[in-house]
Amino acid sequence: MVARQTSDESPNTMRPIPFDNSYQTLADSLFHRQQAEPVSAPQALLINTGLAEALNIDSKWLASPAGIGVLSGNGLAAGSQPIACVYAGHQFGNYNPQLGDGRALLLGEVIDRQGQRKDIQLKGSGRTPYSRGGDGRSPLGPVIREYLLSEAMHRLGVPSTRALAALATGDPVFREHGPLPGGILCRVASSHLRVGTVQFVAAQQDPELLQQLMDYVIDRHYPVCKQSESPYEALFNAILNAQATLISRWQALGFIHGVMNTDNMLLCAETIDYGPCAFMEAYHPGTVFSSIDQQGRSAYGNQPAIAQWNLVQLAQAMLTLMQRPGEPDLKPAVQRAQDTLNTFPDTFLQAYRQRMAEKLGFSHINDDDEALYHDFLALLEEHDCDFTLSFRSLNDRAAVLANCERGGDSIAGLFQLPNAFAPWLERWQQRFNADATPAEQRYLTMQKANPVFIPRNHLVENAIEKAYEGDMSVFFALQTRLQAPFEYQCDAAEFAAPATDGNRVTATFCGT
Ligand code: AMP
Ligand code: MG
Repeated sequence: MVARQTSDESPNTMRPIPFDNSYQTLADSLFHRQQAEPVSAPQALLINTGLAEALNIDSKWLASPAGIGVLSGNGLAAGSQPIACVYAGHQFGNYNPQLGDGRALLLGEVIDRQGQRKDIQLKGSGRTPYSRGGDGRSPLGPVIREYLLSEAMHRLGVPSTRALAALATGDPVFREHGPLPGGILCRVASSHLRVGTVQFVAAQQDPELLQQLMDYVIDRHYPVCKQSESPYEALFNAILNAQATLISRWQALGFIHGVMNTDNMLLCAETIDYGPCAFMEAYHPGTVFSSIDQQGRSAYGNQPAIAQWNLVQLAQAMLTLMQRPGEPDLKPAVQRAQDTLNTFPDTFLQAYRQRMAEKLGFSHINDDDEALYHDFLALLEEHDCDFTLSFRSLNDRAAVLANCERGGDSIAGLFQLPNAFAPWLERWQQRFNADATPAEQRYLTMQKANPVFIPRNHLVENAIEKAYEGDMSVFFALQTRLQAPFEYQCDAAEFAAPATDGNRVTATFCGT
């Protein structure tokens, strides 16, 4: 294995990470100070140079021995005060009063080039008080998986945690089937504040701390709420809206999270926890991949409902803050929270219709169009059509209708909609041509809404399998491809094609 980033400058001329630690100023009860457990032979497999620079981190320093020391937990950057954060959460509907970073450490925060505060976290860095029976480590497979998936989501336009680096530790970790090479992922998030964090604090029965936490959330993520007469109601509403938009983006791409627990839902509404997630291939709303999801709770078609269920838990945890002066009890606050929660289905639907408009090449979805996309989805289901390529094939048709140069090659050689789609395509074409917004503009929007490359399960699994054999080239090649998900070239067909009966992956595992 070879580190992809090498430094030709002496570490003395380089800037280490300028860490800050604002979360620790809240309360000692929210975290445990913890050093990472050292590893034997850390090696950077992939460093996200572009992200490092966006974070104001010197990518040359990051790839230097000092940087790799910090990324592996063997070294400590000046200013970094690592902590394991505590939180609670509903896991598959059951409340767990104490979860926490069992295999992760928050190294600190940085201010990025846009002035935004970002968390830098290690995942797989060793045991913490929240590890319970676990070893605090991660095999290399889940590290590669999260790197590929989270970066792909970012490129697909979905708010997501990011991957700053993937490392091999040089130490084995022991799982069901024996030893596996260990890995560490350095993850970046707008914050790691979860619905479960609020649940944990609410359970402490410390109103002051709850208010302090929510003020921190407002300051960090939703500062506009400060101007509201009822800032915490405004905050809840803002989080609900952000989550509705996030889930609409998942649905528009066929992304199935697989473990939508309240501890895996971030208040900043970035996608987090790329454990058993997967992209749907053939369109079926009941699709479930996660091996731990026995009841199909996180099936593709259930995701909006689960998000709303999680938001009910958030409302409950925040409720005391929603009581207005002069109100004798919590009843009016409950009513207002309920009213806000009741807006979720419609807020989601508006966002989803917007996504569908983008995917179909319409300026907007009017009430008549709803039948059009429902009929398309029904046809996809009936004919077992690949969700991603079916929508993408509309782009090729739109390019002709709009008289546009196609952005890259046509996928016609890779995928064709079955003949049974002809009447539907006729309807779609009429609607496309009737739209008042210039066709060229709509085609360009479609090109950013209908990817050709998604991290298909069999590709990800293959990259992991090869990495375990010591060959990182498949991981690198897939990662490169996923960085430009909307630009197709015929010679990359293997990265765009759906799984075959021989390589289909039907179940995914947390693997940690
Ligand atoms: P997840 O929802 O997959 O992030 O995991 C739920 C909880 O299990 C979190 O509190 C994790 O920190 C913990 N956990 C998962 N894997 C390990 C591990 N290998 N060692 C310690 N804790 C773990
Ligand atoms: Mg988690």
